[in-house]
Amino acid sequence: MVAYKSKVVEPISLPSRERRERALEAAGYNVFNLASEDVFVDLLTDSGTGAMSDAQWAALVRGDEAYAGSRSFDRLASAVRDVMGFEYVVPTHQGRGAENVLYGTLLSEGDVVPNNTHFDTTRAHVANQGAEPIDCPTPGAFDPSLEAPFKGDLSLEHAREVVDEVGADRVPVVIQTITNNSTAGQPVSVENTRRVRAFADEIDATFVIDACRFAENAAFVRQREPDFADDVAIDEIVREQLSHADAVVMSGKKDGLVNAGGFVATDDPDLFDRCKQRAILYEGFPTYGGMAGRDLAAMAVGLREAVDASYVEDRLESVQTLASLLEDVGVPIYRPVGGHAVYLDAGEALSHLSPSAFPGQALVCELYREGGVRGVELGSFAFPGTERPELVRLAVPRRTYHREHFEHVAETAEAVLESATTVAGLELASEPTMPEIRHFTAELEPRSTPSTSN
Ligand SMILES: *Cc1c(COP(=O)(O)O)cnc(C)c1O
Repeated sequence: MVAYKSKVVEPISLPSRERRERALEAAGYNVFNLASEDVFVDLLTDSGTGAMSDAQWAALVRGDEAYAGSRSFDRLASAVRDVMGFEYVVPTHQGRGAENVLYGTLLSEGDVVPNNTHFDTTRAHVANQGAEPIDCPTPGAFDPSLEAPFKGDLSLEHAREVVDEVGADRVPVVIQTITNNSTAGQPVSVENTRRVRAFADEIDATFVIDACRFAENAAFVRQREPDFADDVAIDEIVREQLSHADAVVMSGKKDGLVNAGGFVATDDPDLFDRCKQRAILYEGFPTYGGMAGRDLAAMAVGLREAVDASYVEDRLESVQTLASLLEDVGVPIYRPVGGHAVYLDAGEALSHLSPSAFPGQALVCELYREGGVRGVELGSFAFPGTERPELVRLAVPRRTYHREHFEHVAETAEAVLESATTVAGLELASEPTMPEIRHFTAELEPRSTPSTSN
C-alpha cells in the first residue's frame, strides 16, 4: 500500500542518446564519474539519497546549533534509547566515522575480526587498525538462485574455525551486519544474532552489530522468522535483535532516513567513555560529532519513522516492485530480493563475456547508454581476485522513486538484453594504487577484441 504523496519535487530529464554516449566516454566508462544531471534514474546507492519527511524538514528548522549540550543531541539520544534500546550515543559525520571511532577503540595490530560480510568501509577500518577482517557468510550466500530466508546470516562454523586457528585472544570483536549489504542486502535472523551473542560470550569478545539497515532487517524477520509471526511489531523486533549487541555502528544515511550522519551506541559506560575520547579527536565534541544540530534533529525523527510499519512495508514493497518488473521482462536477478536493492546477475545476462571483460561493468554502462539509468557493479571490477558472482546493484533510494521510474528501468534492461550479444565488454585503461577501492576511480575502455567465455 502506497504510504506517501509528494510535497516537494525535483525535476529530472533523460538526456539525448548522443549526450549519454559522450558523457559515458568522458567518464571513462565508470559511472561514478558521471554528473548527476546526466543521469535520469539514479540507482547508484541508497546511501543518503532518500527523501526526508515533512516532519524531518520541520525538525531541521528547529535544530539547536549549540556546540555543547545541544537540545537536538538530546532528541537524538532519546530516539536511540527508544528505538534501538541503547543508553549512550556518540554521533559521527557518517557511518565510517562511527567505524573509525569504535574499531579504533576496540582493535589493535594482529587482531582478527569475523563478520558475516564486511562492508567495504568496515573492511578498510578493521584493516586500518592492523587487524584482519574475515568474512563468514552463510553457505550459499553467493549463489544467486538459492532460495533461503536468511542468506545474510553469519556462519558460526566458519567463525569457530577462525577462532580455532588463531586463538580466542586474537578475536576481541565479532561483527554482524544487518542487513548484509555486501551479500545482496540479505537479512539476518534474530536466531542467528542470538547464536552470535552466545559465541561472543564463549570467546569473551565484544559483539558489534553494524545496524545500518536495522529496520529493513526487522521487516524481513517479521515476514520470515516463525518466532516473530506478523503480529510482532517492527520496533519490538528491532529492540530484541539489537539487545544482543554490546555496541552498534550506524550510518544515518540508511535507516536514519537522513542525507548525512551516523553514530555509535552502547550500554557500556566504559566503552562509551573511550569512544567519546576518540570521537573528539576525529569527529567533534560528543554532543554533535561532526553533524550540524539540524541534522541531529532530522535524524532523531528519521529513526522513529524507520520503525513505522507503513514506512518499512512501503520500503520493501518498492524494492520488490522493481524486482518484479525486471523479472517480468526476463532479466536474471539475485534471489530472494534483498532489502535495499535489486541485484542483476550480469554473468547470466551477458554470459558470452568472461570475467576479464567485466560483464557487470559492461551491463552498468549499457543501462546508462540505453536509458540514463545508473547502477553499480559489484563483481570482478569492484572485487578483483575474489570468487564472486558478477552482480550489478540497482539500489533504491528511500521514498524517492515510483512505479513509473521502475518501469523505465525495466524497459531499459529489456532493451539491453535484446542486443546482449553485441556487448563487447571492457578493459582497464587506468587504475588507482589501492585495488580494494578501484571501482570508484578506475577508468575503462571498450575492448577492441570481443571476448568469449569459451
Ligand atoms: C553505508 C554503510 C557503512 C558506512 O556508512 P557511511 O555513512 O557510508 O560512511 C557501513 N556499513 C554498512 C553495512 C553500510 O551499508
